[in-house]
Amino acid sequence: MKRLMISVSGIRGVVGEGLTPDVITEYSAAFGSYCEGGKIIVGRDSRSTGAMVRYAALAGLVSVGCDVVDLGIAATPTIQLAVEKSDAAGGIAFTASHNPDEWNALKFFSADGLFLDEAQSMRLKEIKDDWLVNWVPWDEIGHVTDYKDAVDDHIKVVLDHPLFDIPAIRKRNFKVAVDAVGGAGCNLIPSLLAELGCEVVKLNCEITGRFPRSPEPLAENITDLGELVRKEHCDLGLALDPDADRLSIVDDQGNPIGEEYTLAIAARLVLASEKGPLVTNVSTTRALDDIALQAGVPIYRSKVGEIYVVRKMQEVGALIGGEGNGGVIFPGIHLGRDSAVGSVMALQTLVKAGKPLSEVMQTFPKYVISKQKISIMDLHPDDILAKLHAHYKEEEHDETDGLKVIRPDGWFQMRASNTEPILRIFAEGKDQAGADALIQEAVKTVEEIMPQAEE
Ligand code: MG
Repeated sequence: MKRLMISVSGIRGVVGEGLTPDVITEYSAAFGSYCEGGKIIVGRDSRSTGAMVRYAALAGLVSVGCDVVDLGIAATPTIQLAVEKSDAAGGIAFTASHNPDEWNALKFFSADGLFLDEAQSMRLKEIKDDWLVNWVPWDEIGHVTDYKDAVDDHIKVVLDHPLFDIPAIRKRNFKVAVDAVGGAGCNLIPSLLAELGCEVVKLNCEITGRFPRSPEPLAENITDLGELVRKEHCDLGLALDPDADRLSIVDDQGNPIGEEYTLAIAARLVLASEKGPLVTNVSTTRALDDIALQAGVPIYRSKVGEIYVVRKMQEVGALIGGEGNGGVIFPGIHLGRDSAVGSVMALQTLVKAGKPLSEVMQTFPKYVISKQKISIMDLHPDDILAKLHAHYKEEEHDETDGLKVIRPDGWFQMRASNTEPILRIFAEGKDQAGADALIQEAVKTVEEIMPQAEE
């Protein structure tokens, strides 16, 4: 299967199948032309195919006259921030984010460090498909330079924000376990925590080119971190995905609080000091509605995907936003999901509360989300979703992204992934049994409908 996923998340594929050097070079040259031959900042996560992707992309970029600044292995938020704070015309992260080893991808950023939106992505695709690439003559080929201080710059920007009481955090000498999945966060989060006076217990913090666990920071993938937190009596554990935009937290008892609650912690902290809108996507927990209600602020929900959330945040002037996958977006620092920001927010929350995280979590509204995915192979997701719409049309529903069926005691949602040929199914209930019942219903319906969509 030679599948290449093209979306607002960039281009993404299995290396050697959909994602080959020719495709990477073409897209990079198109992106360099889109940026009118300006300076481009690049960086990559730690996966073994990163070097190949980098070489192929650099060839494309310099061939259209772009000078390139290479940050080396760097977290996606580090790259985004570097683009925003510099005079660069754009940026590319070579990372397939939470996808497993065999995948890689290009995430494109505009000069403001934000993902390309739909219109911008469309323009890029047009340049590529219509051969509007501006190849330059031999003596105008761009240059590549390395820049090694981007992580330090990133950490400084985060720690300088007045929301954080850095001396108070330092005074607590927190003991924190970190599982960076051998990814780009190995270079970021341990250094950040050291700056905050924390004792850091490392797990999967060595870059080997391979991911030592399933890379998505879901509860079932971070049980080793939980054990380490218990064994080492840590205050909390932090788990990342390979490009460190997502953060998932384990409490002092070694129990994952669920990646939905990373944003819940961030939102409550920010809204305690200032009042303003909260933005998240339609798949994120109802706990955010409760937090917005308690704070007396409006909540807005966008489609799933960082740029959709960010555009909505800009539109309504949000103080805090993000996604339930552990992606915290704090515009006070920058408009991108950032595990470093989320980490400091978790520590600041502990400082303010003066009690263990497991007790702090009891003060949050309690919901349980179950997540499933179903491979749709070569079926078009729109065909399946059309059938699902017909099936559930009598019920209360939301069509912001795929189909979300809303019931008094919970909801379930079925949507096409932006990054994989799968249908993502989320369900939320007041407890595990409630969430499981809803997800079983949704999965059963999809399985019944898939053969019809094939016809
Ligand atoms: Mg990611």
